Amino acid sequence: MKNKKHYVIVGNSAAGLAAARSIRLIDAQGKILVLTDEEGPAYSKIMLPLFIGGQVSREEMVLAPESFYRENAIELKTRAKVQGIDISHCSLSLENGEKVPYDELLLATGASPYLPPIEGIHMPGVYPLRTREDAERISAALSCIQGEAVVYGGGLVGLKCLEALFNRVGRVRLIVSSDQILSMMLDRTAAAIFQTRLEANGIKVHLQTELVACRGKGSLEKVVLANGQEIPCGLMIVAKGVVSNMQMIAGTSLRAEEGILVDKRMATGNPHIYAAGDVCQPDDLLGGGKRQFPLWPLAVEEGRVAGANMAGVSQVFSGGIRMNAVELFGLKVISMGITETQPGPLVTSQSRQDGAGYRKIILSGSRLKGCIMLGDINGGGVVESFIRSQQEVDEFFIRKVVAGSVSYAHRLWPRGGRK
Ligand SMILES: Cc1cc2nc3c(=O)[nH]c(=O)nc-3n(C[C@H](O)[C@H](O)[C@H](O)COP(=O)(O)OP(=O)(O)OC[C@H]3O[C@@H](n4cnc5c(N)ncnc54)[C@H](O)[C@@H]3O)c2cc1C
Repeated sequence: MKNKKHYVIVGNSAAGLAAARSIRLIDAQGKILVLTDEEGPAYSKIMLPLFIGGQVSREEMVLAPESFYRENAIELKTRAKVQGIDISHCSLSLENGEKVPYDELLLATGASPYLPPIEGIHMPGVYPLRTREDAERISAALSCIQGEAVVYGGGLVGLKCLEALFNRVGRVRLIVSSDQILSMMLDRTAAAIFQTRLEANGIKVHLQTELVACRGKGSLEKVVLANGQEIPCGLMIVAKGVVSNMQMIAGTSLRAEEGILVDKRMATGNPHIYAAGDVCQPDDLLGGGKRQFPLWPLAVEEGRVAGANMAGVSQVFSGGIRMNAVELFGLKVISMGITETQPGPLVTSQSRQDGAGYRKIILSGSRLKGCIMLGDINGGGVVESFIRSQQEVDEFFIRKVVAGSVSYAHRLWPRGGRK
């Protein structure tokens, strides 16, 4: 019997590193190889907008220094792009022709920005933001930008980019296809409060607007909207969502929809191949099948669970849930789970809006299914624990949550006929 397992992890970021750490905690002897197609040490993608905005340095974004790999006996191979998997021979093929054998394989390859097929989308001056290299290119371009900067896409990444550009160059504009900003995180009321904050900072927001072209001689000089309007600008960040990096499973028996389908152990249909992070599609904690959750904390948790199972200790992932806690343009916001009532059993919502902010919870019967807290984020952790556990709550508790006066004491006695 072979005594040392050979673990191969493709991806040197949130999910991949969490898996490597999890394996090493269980198996001190196994050989762990991490492959990445990037250069340099692992870094926090969440901090990329802060780097562009000039708030953090390249060094401050580093997640795992060289000592992490050395101390955990993890071999890191950079600039190693995986192209395919030969499942029958348990081996990976790299772009340079090299073959890498594995006993247990984790695909933690994340996702890449979606670039809509419009004229000029690849021209200099138009950038996605996903990697440190993207951020460095944007940062260099900003030091000699002529005119305004534009962000195309009104989701969380788009808004973070908008704030970074605002901090760096001041003159920024947001173009959004949908009829509200942050449509995956906020309802219309909260989105309108947010938009008012952007406009108070002098930012022009275009809703329900599509771009049809990026034009310029040599580099970006203007973008053209579907209504024919031309907006002069020197730089644009495209933040229109992501697509999973799963080209390497083409031609294999692994099943995928938007991401690679995994079970609660983060295993694919093959007993020696796992997937975690943005590349996978796990169970939804709130029901309704499998969904993608491109979020850092979930990538870490999925990686941790996958690593444990690869090393032979059975663990399960409780399911993905959309959750964000951020501060943008000075407004604190927590958004979790379902944020709009839907036809069917999700019928109730309760909310409060006043000078302190806006709070809303979504209920199905006596169970919390989601919340939005804007401005007043008191008790966010308590609400999260109830959404995750799906423990029942009573009217008293609901009133406390909506009022913003819920605390961990209420976590112990969520029901009980109080007035
Ligand atoms: C600007 C920005 C802001 C964000 N802000 C937030 C936030 O506030 N909150 C939040 O929860 N999430 C945020 N996210 C999302 C978060 O960063 C991702 O969910 C997280 O990075 C996913 O981690 P991952 O390990 O699955 O994949 P990734 O971080 O994408 O890493 C993928 C790894 O796989 C490697 N790789 C890919 N393909 C190959 C290949 N073929 N061969 C070899 N290596 C390969 C890459 O080099 C990389 O090492 C943000 C993302 C961005 C870009």
